[in-house]
Parts: sequence; structure tokens; C-alpha cells
Amino acid sequence: MKSHDAIVIGGGPAGIAAAMYLARSSCSVLLCEQLTPGGQVLMTDSLENYPGYPKGIKGYELADLFVAHLENLPVDRVTGAVDSVTGAAGKFVVRCAGHEYAGKTVLACAGARHRALGLDREDALRGRGVSYCALCDGNFFRGQVVAVVGGGNSALEETLYLSKIAGKVYLIHRRELFRGTKTFLERLKATGNVAILPNTIIVELHGDPGLTGLTLRNVQSGEERHLPVDGLFVYVGLEPATGFLPAELQRDGQGFILTDTEMRTNIPGIFAAGDIRSKLCRQVITAAGDGATAAQAAFIFLEQL
Ligand code: NAP
Repeated sequence: MKSHDAIVIGGGPAGIAAAMYLARSSCSVLLCEQLTPGGQVLMTDSLENYPGYPKGIKGYELADLFVAHLENLPVDRVTGAVDSVTGAAGKFVVRCAGHEYAGKTVLACAGARHRALGLDREDALRGRGVSYCALCDGNFFRGQVVAVVGGGNSALEETLYLSKIAGKVYLIHRRELFRGTKTFLERLKATGNVAILPNTIIVELHGDPGLTGLTLRNVQSGEERHLPVDGLFVYVGLEPATGFLPAELQRDGQGFILTDTEMRTNIPGIFAAGDIRSKLCRQVITAAGDGATAAQAAFIFLEQL
């Protein structure tokens, strides 16, 4: 089995940056990507906060640029889900799509997925009115009534996106104050077909086989009411994709991987970068920065191995 200097798991901005930096340092690199490179960028309509694009850039366009850049470099690639990482520094074994690959270091850049609300019937209604991706599913609700739940940047941004497609969008948030950026919130307040429902939680999903409405509860008054909707978009935070990593890898209370500032984990030779790791700011640019740092730390580690 050929051994690579580094196996990068995940083809989002962190993984692509890590693979690029390693390849440019003459390390042999294998990049394992589950589906298509780009990660969450591909599920983002447009980015307004990526430096160098004053007018913004579409998510798919940025992903295409990342891939084009990667294709200029000697990076081996395999498509498939990684099942496990075993072994130790210098001789890790990564199982991906039924094959085993040997690597001296592993860079975990698999990102995070949108969390579910955890309501009864949420699973049954997934794809039948309940969605976790406005860009993928928004078009099914053209001119209809939809709700978005959450108070972070994802919820705010996706509400803005949906307001251009749906007839009416309710933004449901469990608190008065929003976690997301003020710019997005101000823009939402000025959008005619958006109604913001703060201090509100969803207690029940209705409809069989498809979603028809929600029972909402005001957390201050306790009052409940029925809200008829055709769709619900859930943006209540992220959960890291770490199931394939060793159990001994230290994580924070929410399961994100703990690293030092050089992206080193508690297991020598395993580095983590991007949304998968415990950190304050989850942005494309910070993911790419993490990837570059992890690559540099892995390069130094390889020299000392
Ligand atoms: P987030 O920032 O963690 O926000 C999750 C939101 O969901 C919070 O408002 C939270 O409420 C709410 N929530 C959590 N559990 C809930 C539940 N069970 N029921 C109802 N509401 C619940 O997650 P995110 O918006 O997905 O963003 C993830 C990261 O990506 C963040 O760092 C974000 O800044 C970044 N991001 C950036 C951009 C951008 O800059 N353009 C776009 C998207 C995402 P509380 O506030 O009450 O906790």
C-alpha cells in the first residue's frame, strides 16, 4: 500500500487549502472527499464577506475556483465516505469507500452538518416540507409560505435568500436577540415579505405525508398558536462530522475537535481544521486559514518524524 505524507479528509475550504499548501511543500497528499469538493460553500447562495470580491461571489463559483486551483497541483484524490482512521503517527490507516489508505499524518477537515431540531416527526417530514438547505430546496416553495427556525447567520442569510423565492417567510427564533450579524438582520427587517417571530419555539410539526403547519409557543407568555406553512427550513446550528475519528481524540462539549492554535489535536500526527474543530468563528476564510496552518504544522511534524 502506497503511503502518503498526508491524508486530508474533507474537500471544503479547509481541506482544499490544506491539500494545496502540503502539495506546494512537496508532500505527497491524498484528499478524500465524500461527494463534490466545495463543502458548505456549495450550499451557499452568495458570499459577501470573502475578501477580494466586493460585489460578492456565488458559492458554486468560489467552489469552482477552489477546485481549479487544486487541479494545478499534484494531489491524489479519492471520492467516498471515510469510515475510520486507525493506527498512529507515521502509519495511520484511513478506510474510505471500502479501501484502505496509508498516511503518515491525517488532517481532519470534514466540516459540520446542520443540526436537526429534534421534534417528533421531523425525520418523517424531511424532504416532505422540512429542509436543511434553502439553496437546494427553496425553489420547491416558489410563491408559498415558509418558515425558517434559528437565530444565527445561517438562519438570517437563508431567510433573505428565501424571501426572494417564497411568497412569505416567517423567521422563528427562541430569543429576542439574534446571534447573527446585524447587517443581515437590518436587511431582513426592511424586507416586506419577512415576518420575524422572536421569543418563539416550534412545539409540533403537522401534516401527513407533507408538512402543513406548525404549533408555535411564545416562550414569554406561554401562548400557543397554529401557523400554516408549506415549508420549514431548519438552521439551529452545526454538528461536526467526526464519527470516523478515534474516540480518544479530545472534543468539546458539543463534539467539535479540540486543537491548539497550530491545529494539532491531542493525538500526534492528527490535525483538525475548519468547521470540524472547536472555535469561535466559522467562516470560509477562517476554514481556509485553518487548513493552511494545519498543513504547515503537519509539514513540520513530518520533518521531525
Ligand atoms: P449558530 O451560529 O450556532 O446559531 C444557531 C442558532 O440556532 C442560534 O440562534 C440558537 O439560538 C438557535 N438554536 C439552537 N438550538 C435550537 C433549538 N433546539 N431550537 C431553536 N433554536 C435553536 O449556527 P449557524 O447559524 O448554523 O452558524 C454556524 C456558524 O457558521 C457560525 O459561526 C456562523 O457565524 C457561521 N456562518 C457564517 C455565515 C456568514 O458569515 N455569511 C453564514 C452562515 C454561517 P440561541 O442564539 O438562543 O443559542
